[in-house]
Amino acid sequence: MAGLSSAQQDALRRLPSVDAVLSDPRLVDLADRYDHAYMVSRAREALVGARQRILGSDDDPACPDAVSIADAVIRVLDSYRLRIRRVINATGTVTHTNLGRALLAEPAIEAMNMAARHYVNLEYDIEAGGRGHRDALIEDVLRRLTGSEAATVVNNNAAAVLLTLRVLAEGREAVVSRGELVEIGGSFRLPDVMEAAGVRLREVGTTNRTHARDYENAIGPETALLLKVHPSNYRVEGFTGEVALPDLVDIGRARGVPVVEDLGSGALLDLSRWGLPHEPQVSESVAAGADVVTFSGDKLLGGPQAGLIVGNSDAVGRIRRHPMMRALRVDKYAYAALAATLDIFETDARPELRLPMLEMMTRDVAELERYADECVERWTDLLAPRVVVARAASTAQVGSGAQPATRLPSVAVTLDAEGMGADALAAMLRSLDPPVIARVEDDMVWLDTRTILVRDREPLDEAMTGLAGELRDPR
Ligand SMILES: *Cc1c(COP(=O)(O)O)cnc(C)c1O
Repeated sequence: MAGLSSAQQDALRRLPSVDAVLSDPRLVDLADRYDHAYMVSRAREALVGARQRILGSDDDPACPDAVSIADAVIRVLDSYRLRIRRVINATGTVTHTNLGRALLAEPAIEAMNMAARHYVNLEYDIEAGGRGHRDALIEDVLRRLTGSEAATVVNNNAAAVLLTLRVLAEGREAVVSRGELVEIGGSFRLPDVMEAAGVRLREVGTTNRTHARDYENAIGPETALLLKVHPSNYRVEGFTGEVALPDLVDIGRARGVPVVEDLGSGALLDLSRWGLPHEPQVSESVAAGADVVTFSGDKLLGGPQAGLIVGNSDAVGRIRRHPMMRALRVDKYAYAALAATLDIFETDARPELRLPMLEMMTRDVAELERYADECVERWTDLLAPRVVVARAASTAQVGSGAQPATRLPSVAVTLDAEGMGADALAAMLRSLDPPVIARVEDDMVWLDTRTILVRDREPLDEAMTGLAGELRDPR
């Protein structure tokens, strides 16, 4: 033990053994619940940590006793149960990809629960008493909602685009406007998806303008389809021009080339009904004559992660029968949640009250102001004078590439801590239980009330009480 102070040598000698740690009564109680080898390795790990801390402090190394090592083990055991954690979304981004995108409507949650607990007719035709197809669970309602002949579902919209391109254009060319060669969310880049699908990209037009003749001139013996892509999180402004879907369909029909549209979010209802800007509706694309339309299950739809493919029976049938479908299909939970969500779109008089995502997008600003005022009052009591709590006008957004230009008027509660940077305060909010995810702007922390769920209000108050404790007496 050369180079170690005598205090360090002494502390190392006094470190408890693994057996001594595991004989802590609390860990003895957990012995029925946890595998013994697992507990031993967690105790060893805690002892290695303690050893390293002793080696790192040569003047006055504290030697933890068996009880505090057992504390550390218990914390690790607890943390394993909390790997996926509930968080409070105070960012103002409604469909936040990093926070898991859509929150499901209650009937969708119930349907998933039911599917987890019971055998279900996923691929079973109850009436006929034999094998059925899982798409039977969603096809009728999607036909009615979109006007399409047929529908199927895959893992996400990226998979829907990949599979559609593969089935309809493998080894051949897909014609796309340069203005629509987009990257969405960092990992969905249309040219890369095309390559993965084995499809050659034939770019036409320019970034800001593409004309009908650009498509017409590009069509040749190698052309398998014309692809239109909703630019989602990207907008071209000023001197622009694109070929509208009905015109693209005319061009395709005249030359016998199918037209596919990737709508991205894809609305099932007219959002202008709630004062939101118009978002292309799936039914409009189907009515315009697109052979296949793809869109996400967990963007504007507010359902489970899924990619929906609707279109004519021939194209959808070929997609459904392709071997890759077996790798991209979704499980019973997605079908259960999707069917329940689609039912709300079809049957509910006020879907905005049932679908949490739509509810958040359409919340009344006056109501948000009232809630923000209550927060200012309560949190000032908890946090003053160290933190100044105030109400401020804010702008929320739909998120996930849906309606990028839409700014949802919103209301925030700002926190400004004396002697502490906003980033440090935001980090403190994230360390609470449940973690509160906020925005930092103008060197203040902003909690946007539009995305704070009503059921998160009480936990948020409790987290703020925790913050008050942290500020008084940091860990
Ligand atoms: C979001 C989006 C995708 C990817 O959809 P996921 O469901 O996230 O896989 C593809 N295309 C467009 C136009 C999009 O907006």
